[in-house]
Amino acid sequence: MFKSLSSVLLSLFVVCLPLQAGPHVHVHGSASGSIVVGNDRIEIELRVPALSVVGFERAPSTQEETRLVQEAKVKLGQPVLFRFYEDGGWFKWNSDVEAELLESSVELHLDDHGHDHEEHAEFLIKKSYKVVFQTELEEIETSLFSRLLDLHDMCVDVITEASKAQYEFSNHKTKVTL
Ligand SMILES: [Zn+2]
Repeated sequence: MFKSLSSVLLSLFVVCLPLQAGPHVHVHGSASGSIVVGNDRIEIELRVPALSVVGFERAPSTQEETRLVQEAKVKLGQPVLFRFYEDGGWFKWNSDVEAELLESSVELHLDDHGHDHEEHAEFLIKKSYKVVFQTELEEIETSLFSRLLDLHDMCVDVITEASKAQYEFSNHKTKVTL
């Protein structure tokens, strides 16, 4: 039998979880967020379930848990969490884009909606890079998966002045081509 049209459409267009479908979806092992590319700026905002970062989802209650959260903040605050590449021109490798980390914040957010009596928590990561493009952003690479071994995939909206599209990173695919 033929697949229904809607399931074909789904398989074609929904790369990963739709970001604008109502409330934010929290799936353990999956991060989500957005990367906004401007003329000389790249703004990144990511949500990562705390379970995939520190192994628990509530406010830290012991010294050990507090230490884990502090360590995670340092680890996720690194500038090298993302690297950017631009088209190197004909017959050349894509080259590194010079990127300076202007701002970085990593916070543990506790979910207090509590409708299902389950506690959840997420790390909210925000980064702002100043970039010097010679041409256009071509590839984005992340080292998030080698830092967070319990993270399996990450769905990101990449928004440029000309387009908006979703990309899925995973621990097997740490670089995407735009
Ligand atoms: Zn959770």
